[in-house]
Amino acid sequence: MALPLYLEPRVETRPAALLREERFLRGLVGALGSPLNVVLPDQLADNVARFRAMYRKHQLSGPICFAHKANRSSALMRRLAATDASADVASLGELQHALGSGFTPDRIMATGPKTPEFLWLAARTGVTVHVDNRAELDQLAALIRSYALPRVRILLRLSAFESPGVKVLSRTSRFGTPVRELESALSAVDGHSGAVELIGVGFHLDTTSVGEKALALEGSIRAMDELRERGVSPRVVDIGGGFGVNYLAHHEQWERYTTELTRAVLGRRPPLTWRGHGYGLRDDAGTLRGSLALYPAYRPLAGEQYLDELLSAPAPSLGGRPLSTLLLENLYDLCVEPGRALVDQCGLVLARVLEVRRTEAGEHLVRLEAKADDIGLEDHGVFMDPVLIGHEDTGHGRDGGDDAVGVYLAGGLCLEAGLISRRTVFLPRLPRPGDLLAFVNTAGYVMDFQATGAQRLPVARGVAVWQDGEDGGPWQWSLDEQYWPTLRQEGQA
Ligand SMILES: *Cc1c(COP(=O)(O)O)cnc(C)c1O
Repeated sequence: MALPLYLEPRVETRPAALLREERFLRGLVGALGSPLNVVLPDQLADNVARFRAMYRKHQLSGPICFAHKANRSSALMRRLAATDASADVASLGELQHALGSGFTPDRIMATGPKTPEFLWLAARTGVTVHVDNRAELDQLAALIRSYALPRVRILLRLSAFESPGVKVLSRTSRFGTPVRELESALSAVDGHSGAVELIGVGFHLDTTSVGEKALALEGSIRAMDELRERGVSPRVVDIGGGFGVNYLAHHEQWERYTTELTRAVLGRRPPLTWRGHGYGLRDDAGTLRGSLALYPAYRPLAGEQYLDELLSAPAPSLGGRPLSTLLLENLYDLCVEPGRALVDQCGLVLARVLEVRRTEAGEHLVRLEAKADDIGLEDHGVFMDPVLIGHEDTGHGRDGGDDAVGVYLAGGLCLEAGLISRRTVFLPRLPRPGDLLAFVNTAGYVMDFQATGAQRLPVARGVAVWQDGEDGGPWQWSLDEQYWPTLRQEGQA
C-alpha cells in the first residue's frame, strides 16, 4: 500500500511506561471490561508543579484552578486535593465532588452558568464565585440576604475587551460583562456591598490566540485600576483556561496528514475519510472551500509554555512592559483555570478489538468493544492514532514497514454515527480480535465528556493506576472511586 500517514501521539515517560505493561493492561480490561478509562493521578500532580514553576519564573503567586469539567474522575480530584492546586467547578455536582474530595472552600472557584442550588451551596460553604453577569449578581446577593449567609468573595467575569490603539479582534462572547459596562457593574456591586466582596476580575476566552488573550489580560489590569479608583482593593486577576495540549509527536506527520486530507477532498488522491467526510472542507468544482474544523493537534506552544508566552507579552497601553511585570508590581495574584492542559498525559482509554473485516468497497473495518461516545476524539476534532498494545514498536516505525494498514474504527452501532474514526487511521499491522487499542492522552474531555448509557451498554469503568516508589516499581491500581492519595503510602509501606 501507499506510505502510511501516521499521527503518532506524544507520550511522556509515565504513560509510555504503562503502555509497555501488556499483561497488566490486559488483566485490567479482562476484569473490568472494555472500554476502560485509566487515569494517572501522579501525572496531574506533576503538571500542577510545571505550572507552579512557571509562576515562580515570573515571581507570581495565586491559585492554579483545575477546570473540573475536563474529567469526572474522583481519583484525579483527590490527588489534586493533595497538591497546592484549587478547583474550578461549573455545576452543583462538581462543587459537591470538590468538597468531598478534600478541597476546602478557600480552594474552590465557582464558574460558568449557575442554578440557584449551585449558587446557594457555593455561598453557604464560602467558595469564591466568578460572577458572570448582573442577573447572577442580583440572584447571589438575594440568596445571601434571605439565608443570612456570610459575605461571599466574588470576581467579575469581563468580556469584549477593546484595544486602545491598533484594532485587534476580540471575539464576542455569550459570557461576561462587556468592559465598557464596567462602571454600571461596579455600581451594582456597591449596591450589594453587604452581601459580596469584590476581589478582582477575570475572563475565559476559548481561543488559541496569545494576542487575543494578551489583550484581555491588559484590559483586565486596566479594569483593576478602575476598581482601585473606586476605592475597592482588588487582588486577583483570573485569566481562565485554554492553555492547550500538544497531542502529536511529529510536526511533519501533522502537516503531511492535513495536506493529504486536502488533496483527498479534491479527489487528487485516494480517500482518507469514510464516504467523503471532509471535516469542514469541501470540493467546489475543483476549488477547496470551508476550513478544517479540527483541534490543532500538533501544538508546540501549549500548557505552561503558553502561559509563559502570554505573561511575557507586552502591554502597549501600559507602557509596553510585560504583562507579568504589571501583575507583579501591583502585587496582584494570578489565577489560571486550565482544564485540558492540566490533565495532559493523565489518562487513556483501553478498548478491545472484537472483529476485523473488509467492506464491499475494500476498506478495513475494525470493530471495537466501545461506543463512539466513549472515545470522543472525533467529537473534539483531535486527530491522533491509538496505540496497538503489544506491538513492539509503539512508535509506529516512521516509514511503516510492510504490515502497515489503513483502517476505520467502528463502535457498536451499525450506523455512521457509530464510527470512532471517520478518518483513515494507520496502524503498524492489521489488528486481530482480542487485541487492545489504547487511546492515549484522552483525560481532557475525550474520555468521559460525551459518555452515555445508550443502548444499555455500560458506561466505561474508571481505574486509577500508579507506581510505587520514585523510580518506577510495579504498577498498582484501584477503582477510580476507591482511590485516595493515602493508597500510595500504604503501597510503599
Ligand atoms: C472550560 C473552561 C475552562 C477550561 O478550559 P480548557 O480549554 O480545558 O483549559 C476554564 N474556565 C472556564 C470558565 C471554562 O468554561
